[in-house]
Amino acid sequence: MPWKQRIRLKSAAELDKMAASGRALAEVFRAVPALVRAGATTRDLDAAIERMIRDAGCMPSFKGYNGFPAASCISINEEVVHGIPSDRQLCDGDIVGVDVGLIKDGYHSDSAETFPVGEIDEEAERLLQVTRECLERAIAQVRSGNRISDIGVAVETHARAQGFSVVETLVGHGIGREMHEDPQVPNYRSYSTPDPVMEPGLVIAIEPMINAGVKRVVTAEDQWTVRTADGRLSAHFEHTVAVTADGPWVLTRR
Ligand code: MG
Ligand code: MG
Repeated sequence: MPWKQRIRLKSAAELDKMAASGRALAEVFRAVPALVRAGATTRDLDAAIERMIRDAGCMPSFKGYNGFPAASCISINEEVVHGIPSDRQLCDGDIVGVDVGLIKDGYHSDSAETFPVGEIDEEAERLLQVTRECLERAIAQVRSGNRISDIGVAVETHARAQGFSVVETLVGHGIGREMHEDPQVPNYRSYSTPDPVMEPGLVIAIEPMINAGVKRVVTAEDQWTVRTADGRLSAHFEHTVAVTADGPWVLTRR
């Protein structure tokens, strides 16, 4: 796909709408931990998420996106992202990545979080912690004058120092009236994508995907689910973040 660098900066009025969209999505996520329990199917979880989105007067942006059949992507253990909700039941010791997008008043928000199911082992615990820290370190780089690459450097440096690897085939993105806008936001030091300077009005979805083992991933036969090539665990955290004159504004903060 040819790269088109077409960043759409948002006005103050648009940022207010994006903030409202982000708040609605944060509300959905607040309810998720109580739904993540052993025995629940990922379809149950997705149905509850879709109901909350619609009850809030919003639209689930993933449903129908390139034919995706659900309101959320739910990815368990070695699944990195884009898992399709199904009859699979969550088990004690699983980690479950929940990625949700919605549209409110014409504006998208996009967020993800990886949750523990019951008691998880030490490596899983550390992976969740480090991936969450990668996202926070990335957010700390969001300020006018910094470059998009500062985000990837922050994520990659922290993940590698902890012995983990960064998925490179999927990246974060600009967001606004469309779910995926320019620029691409890699979670690693990239030499192949344009490296714009951040300025107020830029809104991006930052979404590190961190693997316990190798960085290589494969796509499953369902053409959606992305898994680690070595079958080891993966975690994913995402926030929609606006650049302001005062620094980062995390629109999907819970
Ligand atoms: Mg997402
Ligand atoms: Mg995203």
